[in-house]
Amino acid sequence: MSERYARSIADLERSKKSLAGGVSSNVRLGDKPFPLFFERGTGSHLWDVDGNEYIDYVLGRGPLLLGHTPPEVIQATCDQMWRGQIYAAQHELEFELSERVSRIVPCADLVRFGISGSEAVHGALRLARAATGRQTVLKFEGQYHGWLDNILYSLSPDPNRAGDALHPAALAESAGQFSGTESHVVVLPWNNIPVLEEYLAQHGTTIAAIITEPVMCNTAVIPPLPGYLEALRDLCTQYGIVLIFDEVITGFRLSLAGAQGRFNVKPDLTIFGKAIANGMPISCLAGREQYMGLIAAGKVGHGGTYNSLPPAVAGAIATLDMLERDGAAVYATMERTGGRLMDGIKQRAAKLGIPVVVQGYGPIFYMGFPTTEVAADQAVYDYRSSLAMDQELYTHFVSAMVDRGVRIIPRGNWFLSSTHSDADIDQTLDAVEAVLAETIAPKL
Ligand code: PMP
Repeated sequence: MSERYARSIADLERSKKSLAGGVSSNVRLGDKPFPLFFERGTGSHLWDVDGNEYIDYVLGRGPLLLGHTPPEVIQATCDQMWRGQIYAAQHELEFELSERVSRIVPCADLVRFGISGSEAVHGALRLARAATGRQTVLKFEGQYHGWLDNILYSLSPDPNRAGDALHPAALAESAGQFSGTESHVVVLPWNNIPVLEEYLAQHGTTIAAIITEPVMCNTAVIPPLPGYLEALRDLCTQYGIVLIFDEVITGFRLSLAGAQGRFNVKPDLTIFGKAIANGMPISCLAGREQYMGLIAAGKVGHGGTYNSLPPAVAGAIATLDMLERDGAAVYATMERTGGRLMDGIKQRAAKLGIPVVVQGYGPIFYMGFPTTEVAADQAVYDYRSSLAMDQELYTHFVSAMVDRGVRIIPRGNWFLSSTHSDADIDQTLDAVEAVLAETIAPKL
């Protein structure tokens, strides 16, 4: 197999000598079989430097809703590049984009653009603290909201250290995180209203914000239980807490108006990134005027040299234009092809007698191997229940799939684009069946 990846292996060795770990994001350190080097992508397909072709379900870890290099987005970006890369000033594309976001997203009275999701989360938390005069932020175990100090807690904590599943400790994810922040972060299990109600009855008036992914994509693509998001909304209103939906993954993916559109629940503040510009670097902090007005008034600091970078804004406008124009077809395609893939994986696994959990939605779903017998439709509903999945076994699955030309994320998420075809799905399902039979079955 090393022959298949000869150039990537040599590139990684060379890269490690000057680039820390040979990668530019720690997430990529975990890629299987190891961090590969890529050369080009088009539609649903990607090629590595050894010339191997992949059907890509990583899709930049979410942005590429329209697949790699959609001509309209590339054209708009390049046209703007020639007119200027950066002005450090206003340009008319900015309000063209903010008007679109406001039109599409019900809670987006006002909007600000940045580059990364992490910094937009940072802005939302700061706004919530400023607006409420409270310090503490409530997040949920297993959720990721970027890599910055004040929120990088309890993404994948060791349950022995985190303690009680219903009242887990807030555990820092990185050495060197600013100490003391954890006293202002409360971590609770997701999808559990009674525990939240009990906590808020005692401490509700000390909480500035509740931040959540509306679908828990970073752990097993867990859907909210019926009524959960509505109950979150009501509790935040009751206690004067700012409700923040982190839609960096779900935004423009689960529907044109994101998960908040799909479930019809309106947060106070929201964050978009990834799919908003199909691969160009731009994030968006948006929300009710009552909060965003604090930025407008200059009371809450928000800045960035590259904010609303003209080529990225042009890429976002082209993306949203396509989604507004062709959205019905784009979303229907992903629901159908993703749905076929989810059903097909279940069927091929059942044929071989291999237990598998597949959950989520056509545009993003999760696959994993349960270690214990679980009822398939409620296998994983929060972080602790996700620990019943056999991560090591899935890692073998991922490597074998990559060897067969299907690129997937080691944590179990599969992203779909509007460019994945029925032929892609058929080929993927044949690879799934072969890998289940040859690699997984012998290990069970
Ligand atoms: N929030 C969520 C839900 C995410 O998935 C991510 C990134 N995967 C972020 C925030 C951080 O975004 P970025 O990597 O652009 O900083």
